[in-house]
Amino acid sequence: MSQPSIIKFVRDVYQTNDFIPLHAPTFDGNEQKYVLETIKSTFVSSVGKFVDDFEKAVETYTGTEKAVATVNGTAALHAALYMGGVERGDFVITQALTFVATCNALYHMGAEPIFVDVSPVSLGLCPKAVDEYLTQHAHVTEAGCIHKQTKRRIRAVVPMHTFGHPVELDELIVVCSKWNLTLVEDAAESLGSFYKGKHTGTLGKFSALSFNGNKIITTGGGGMVLCKTEKLGARTKHVTTTAKVPHPYEFFHDEPGFNYRMPNLNAALGCAQMEVLEQYLEAKRVLANRYQEFFDKSDYQFMIEPEYAKSNYWLNAVICPSVEARDELLKQGNDTGVMIRPIWQLMHRLPMFKNAPRGDLTQSEHIEAHLINLPSSPIAP
Ligand SMILES: *Cc1c(COP(=O)(O)O)cnc(C)c1O
Repeated sequence: MSQPSIIKFVRDVYQTNDFIPLHAPTFDGNEQKYVLETIKSTFVSSVGKFVDDFEKAVETYTGTEKAVATVNGTAALHAALYMGGVERGDFVITQALTFVATCNALYHMGAEPIFVDVSPVSLGLCPKAVDEYLTQHAHVTEAGCIHKQTKRRIRAVVPMHTFGHPVELDELIVVCSKWNLTLVEDAAESLGSFYKGKHTGTLGKFSALSFNGNKIITTGGGGMVLCKTEKLGARTKHVTTTAKVPHPYEFFHDEPGFNYRMPNLNAALGCAQMEVLEQYLEAKRVLANRYQEFFDKSDYQFMIEPEYAKSNYWLNAVICPSVEARDELLKQGNDTGVMIRPIWQLMHRLPMFKNAPRGDLTQSEHIEAHLINLPSSPIAP
C-alpha cells in the first residue's frame, strides 16, 4: 500500500479538494439558539441553567452519580487529582504515551509522574505493566504504597483512554486495590466510549472529560469531573467554585478553592452538542469502518476497539509498517492539505518530566515511532 493511495482514499471519503483537518467541530443543532438565549438572559458567566442542564445531561448519558462542569479538561483533571487525595511530594502512575495535560495537572499538584507502559490493544495504561512496576519498586505500608528507592508515597493511578479506546479497567481496579492506590481516569478523549457496557470515567473514583474544540463534542473550552458518589460530587462542586459557604451575602470560604467554573455561555453549547452526540458517534463508527476495510490485509494496522469495549473512535489511528513509511505519509499528507498527525512525543522526553521514574516503555516507544492519526471529523450522512 502506497502513501499516495492512502491520501487519495481520505480525499475520496471526505469528497473534497479543500484542506481536510484532523477533527473539526460542527454546530448544526441548537447551538446558536441556546447561546443567544444565554446572552439575552445576561447569565453568561459562572451560574445559569445551562451549567446545571449540561451536568445533568452528562450524568444521564454516562450513568455517573455527579458531574461537575469545569473551565477545561486540564482543570477537571487537576480537581479530580486534588479530590483523589494526591498531595505535594506524591507519585502518580500514568502512561508516557499521553497528551501533556495529564502530567501538567499532577505536576501542579506538586506530584510527580511515574511512567509505565501501555497495552498495544488499548494504547492505554497496561495493568500488568503497572503491577510489575510496583512489584519491583514499591511496597504497601500503613502509610500507603511507598516507592522503595525514594520513600515517597505513590497515591494514584491515572490511565488515559487513548483516542477513545478504553483501557482494561477491571484489571486496573484489581491492581489499585492490591496496592492501595486511587483510580482517577483521564477520560478526556473518551466521551461516548464504554467499557463492558459502562461508560469510561465511571469506574474510577474521579475522572475528567474535556470539551476542547477538537474533542468529540465541544463547548469551545470546557471539562467535567465525573464523581463516584453524590457526596464526592458535592465536595468537588464546592472546591471548584471557590469553596464558598452558601450565604445570601457573606463571603466565607472554608478551604483553598479553585475557580474552575464553566461559564453558562459555554455550557449552552454543551447542551446543544449533547443532543447530537449519538449522531456523531454513529457517523464516526461508519468512518472507522471504512478505514478498517481500507487497511484490511495491508501492512498498515488500523486501530480497532478492544473486544471488551465500544469505542467512540474519536481519532482514527493506524500503525505504519516502518518509521520511514510513517514519515513519508506525514510529509505527503501535510504537503497536500490532508492533516495527518504523529502521536505525542512520550512524556519522559519533555524537559519537565525527563527525570521522572519509569518502567520499561517498549510498547510506548514502538507506538510513538509508528502511529499516525488520520482525519476523523464525523461525515454528514
Ligand atoms: C484534551 C485532553 C485533556 C484536557 O485538555 P483541555 O484542553 O484542558 O480540555 C487532558 N488529557 C488528554 C489526554 C486530552 O486529550
